Amino acid sequence: MSKDYYSVLGVSKTATPDEIKSAFRKLAHQHHPDKGGNDAKFKEINEAYQVLGNAEKRRQYDQFGSSFQHGQAGGANGFSGFEGFSQGNINMDDLGDILSGFGDMFGFSSGRSGRSGSRQKERGHDLEMGISIDFLEAVFGTEKEIKLNKKVTCHHCHGQGAEPGSKVENCRTCQGQGYVFRVQRSMFGSMQVQSACPDCGGEGKIFSKKCHECSGVGVVKDEVRLKIKIPAGIDNGEAIRLSGQGEAGMKGAPAGDLYLRIKITPDKRFHREGADIRNRVEIGVTKAALGGDVEIETVHGSLTLKIPEGTQSGTVFRLKEKGLPRLHSHGQGDHFVEVTVKVPTHLSKQQKKMLEELAI
Ligand SMILES: [Zn+2]
Ligand SMILES: [Zn+2]
Repeated sequence: MSKDYYSVLGVSKTATPDEIKSAFRKLAHQHHPDKGGNDAKFKEINEAYQVLGNAEKRRQYDQFGSSFQHGQAGGANGFSGFEGFSQGNINMDDLGDILSGFGDMFGFSSGRSGRSGSRQKERGHDLEMGISIDFLEAVFGTEKEIKLNKKVTCHHCHGQGAEPGSKVENCRTCQGQGYVFRVQRSMFGSMQVQSACPDCGGEGKIFSKKCHECSGVGVVKDEVRLKIKIPAGIDNGEAIRLSGQGEAGMKGAPAGDLYLRIKITPDKRFHREGADIRNRVEIGVTKAALGGDVEIETVHGSLTLKIPEGTQSGTVFRLKEKGLPRLHSHGQGDHFVEVTVKVPTHLSKQQKKMLEELAI
């Protein structure tokens, strides 16, 4: 089926884009089904305008004329740009223009993007902040006070957005539901569309006066101090989620969460691997050969490690449960000590002689 789009819009083949546009607007008003117009005619007008209102499509239509078929790529040379062309492609720029004249006929008014299910209030934003703690604070857990600026529920109106004492009534337009149903008539038929109530913005309520502290949004910025318990065994880079400590939601919606990212200051004495601690200790040749006691510094304080005789350099000793609590499972990590045997230097003549006598 080929159509002469120019005659549909009642313009000449040499019409300017402005002439085409104004012809379309005039006809669309005249034939809109909601104004008693003919559905098929309205469709036809829209179809014609989709092509002639677009410079590129118009050029192709002029070139290929009657072989121009609706919704088909056509396969002919020069039609490669037409994949996206179908009845559904409405030029939104033009629609925006048209709507000012059509009022609400398309079921949505310009400027408002009518989210469906608008009674659902938007939860407050999550917040994230970093906090530094010492190595040993991570081992034993600690409590910190933090300070943050965030949106909190307005105390003046308790988040309702209404100036106390002002009248709060159910919105008459939506009967307090926050949304309305419209029959959206379009060239594709009519549909039931749920959209935010335009009068109350989806709240279901209207106030005679907005809260003067928060201008009716129910939240204000404030500095907040929080005491945070940091559990023993937390690791570098882990985050603590504080439910509901993010920003307050608008108009009584739930607050977001606060994520505290932990940064642990390293300690020169210890190296941490998960719940385990590692360090090194140097012993002399004599102790390595004959055995003896060595003082080991652990996160739980100093303790004595018995080195057996004949200990080689690089031997690792395990001090059971002298590490950190395992935060994500049970029990306690260990402390591993690697023994390094120090070969003596700067020996006296006599010491050298004795070593030679040992001949080892
Ligand atoms: Zn307020
Ligand atoms: Zn309403």
